Amino acid sequence: MKAVTFHDVGDVRVGEVPEPVLSGPGDALVRMTLSAVCGSDLHIYHGHTPVQEGATLGHEFVGVVEQAGPEVRTVKPGDRVVAAFYAACGRCRLCRRGLWSQCESRAVFGHGDYFGGLGGSQAERCVVPNADVNLELIPDGVEDEQAVFVGDILATGYFAAERGMIRPADTVAVIGAGPVGLMALMCAQLFGPARVFAVDMVDSRLELAQELGAIPLNPREVNPEIEVQRHTGGAGADAVLECVGQIAAIETAINVCRGGGTISSVGVPSEVNGDFPYFDMWNRGLTFRSGLTNVHAYMRPLLDLIEAGRLHPERVISHRLRLDDAEEAYDLFDRRQATKIVLRP
Ligand SMILES: [Zn+2]
Ligand SMILES: [Zn+2]
Repeated sequence: MKAVTFHDVGDVRVGEVPEPVLSGPGDALVRMTLSAVCGSDLHIYHGHTPVQEGATLGHEFVGVVEQAGPEVRTVKPGDRVVAAFYAACGRCRLCRRGLWSQCESRAVFGHGDYFGGLGGSQAERCVVPNADVNLELIPDGVEDEQAVFVGDILATGYFAAERGMIRPADTVAVIGAGPVGLMALMCAQLFGPARVFAVDMVDSRLELAQELGAIPLNPREVNPEIEVQRHTGGAGADAVLECVGQIAAIETAINVCRGGGTISSVGVPSEVNGDFPYFDMWNRGLTFRSGLTNVHAYMRPLLDLIEAGRLHPERVISHRLRLDDAEEAYDLFDRRQATKIVLRP
């Protein structure tokens, strides 16, 4: 089958790989209908995430079940499904506490052998282990372009907003208006804030953030700390959702947060340059929450919200390409020419 594979830093290719096959009785084989290119794929592309040569990439996807092992109960061939971007076992102690992100045998799709050796979704087919745990049925009223984000960036945006402990009339600041930041700002609005700021240095992202209801702040033009204070009687934001994953973004988050506020950090810390500002966090009495999204907890509720017309995640899509054009897709995304790219096999 056709798939996108990793070869070297800055070198991904579309080529032929062996067809994936079911290995366990709980597995399902999914034929892709849509896959996305994620910021985490760029971490691989840049060599910040260790992946062996030839690994199939992609972890954000929707598709149709083609084959299901004898123990699969919740999905059957022909069903439209969305997968979590990592597979959990559903049986270990932490899975049974509802902490699928901390599963002792967590494995990430399209991240090579070091992250569990699962196949990738930027391909024609992919095997999903423990299908009952890791797949969710897509309602008829939800399009592929909406559902594709439920297993990754939309869940991450919701996770960021929920853990920001936003209350009605709060002021929220989202640091980073890339795909995850845009999802976080859409999800923050579900919690009833008075205003949401979006901080980013890319104007095209800020324009979209503004269309989605945020007040845009470009640190190249204004001081975000002063602007947020100006709108909050000098106090700062009640909740700050950090969606970048660099120390500089954490510092901005601290600067715009009010004393006693909450910083909810979901940016993947792929390149950590500098020290964590422990003293500032302590001195300002901030609550800092971070971590890998507990995706499985949010997939069903997010599909319900989309079906009800309360969330429109497809608005972040800037490019619709074919799987054959994946090399161009990575290049566009890397050069920040694209907000979000989806690939159709
Ligand atoms: Zn991702
Ligand atoms: Zn587990």
